[in-house]
Amino acid sequence: VGKDVHKMVDRPVDGQSHADLIAQMRQEFETYLDKITDFSLKVLSIEATNARMGGPGEAARAMFIQKFLQGEGLDVQRVDVQDPKNLARASPNLITLLHGRDSSKTLWYVVHMDTIPVGPRELWRSDPFTPLLKEGKIIARGAMDNGQSMIASIFALIKLKELSQDLPINVGVVLISDEQFGNRLGIEYLLSRGDFFSKRDLIIVPDYGNAEGTEIEIAEKNLLWLRILVKGKEVHASLPGAGLNAHSVGARLTVALEEGLHKRFPKENQIFSPESSSTFEPTKLEPNLVGVNTIPRTHAFYLDCRILPEYSPDEVLAAIDSTIREFEVQFNVRISTQVLLRDDAGSPTKEDSQVAQLLTNGIRIVRKKESRFVGIGGHTAANAFRKFGFPAVAWSTIVQLSGEANEYCLVENLLSDATVFASLPFLLP
Ligand SMILES: [Zn+2]
Repeated sequence: VGKDVHKMVDRPVDGQSHADLIAQMRQEFETYLDKITDFSLKVLSIEATNARMGGPGEAARAMFIQKFLQGEGLDVQRVDVQDPKNLARASPNLITLLHGRDSSKTLWYVVHMDTIPVGPRELWRSDPFTPLLKEGKIIARGAMDNGQSMIASIFALIKLKELSQDLPINVGVVLISDEQFGNRLGIEYLLSRGDFFSKRDLIIVPDYGNAEGTEIEIAEKNLLWLRILVKGKEVHASLPGAGLNAHSVGARLTVALEEGLHKRFPKENQIFSPESSSTFEPTKLEPNLVGVNTIPRTHAFYLDCRILPEYSPDEVLAAIDSTIREFEVQFNVRISTQVLLRDDAGSPTKEDSQVAQLLTNGIRIVRKKESRFVGIGGHTAANAFRKFGFPAVAWSTIVQLSGEANEYCLVENLLSDATVFASLPFLLP
């Protein structure tokens, strides 16, 4: 690999070496700083809390971004996806692209415009929609997730347009909606249309990262959320023999499922660190609203399962079902399960795929750092691509926040990720 790197660094681009080009890019992003921070503060002041999470949705933010991109001379294709549950509402998705010499292939940066809700206001030290630039940080709801990468991708594209150098392939940015609520009105719709992406494309989703920018995410776990309801018979606590204690059975079932699922699905995959096996966690518990002296009729609890891609969620559901049937017979209760959320994992992206190798080289050349491949228990839009058979990687350089209030990103990370994004097209073999 070392030899290849040298070949890539030294190969001239229009008389200029890659190293020079990259150094120049970084410098130019610095001189852009006012323009970048001005855009950042404006775009983050427009609330884009996901509409399905109680917010206004992405429309106003998308309109602002669309106008900004068009003002920079970029063509923007807008795809509105109607919400089947609220026909009056549509989620906007924006696609913008620069053409390269080989226009059959595109390097995509896929970022999301929507955010999670603000949460308790009293936890915020500043207004979440009055972004602050302070001590090298931009503070606002969505500044990090996914604002930093959204802004970095947009300015990488603007930079590439200004360089007016021949791009070897197309470079594009996709700004999606509805990422925080399952992607159905965003990237899953675009992928299901089948005509936006080619299997030759290189897809980067800058929506996962570590503080050093050294983790390239290539795999995600299957996600399964269940509500399990145990129904017994209510009776005074002094006469347990006349009732059926749903709480007691539910507690045993909770432990039986947690322990049983770990035994039944023991595989480990070291790319998922620190949780290298599947996780089956009992989480929420519904209040049963009975008095201390009442044996409760119901017990409802929730399981959060993150299942290695080596297993199918169907196998897990079947195992849960068989335990539940045993409990019904043993304790004479009735138990029902409800799947609240299921998002299957696509096949992990191969470490030797072109996009994974391009990014590895980019981090080495631009950042002078060695990266490693990781898997995660959460979900990004990269998984949506993998489900449709596209190799995609998730990567960025981000601060690890504690809690959801006072969200921020570092301007330094924004600039240095933008430099990587703008450099990658020139590092293609
Ligand atoms: Zn995100």
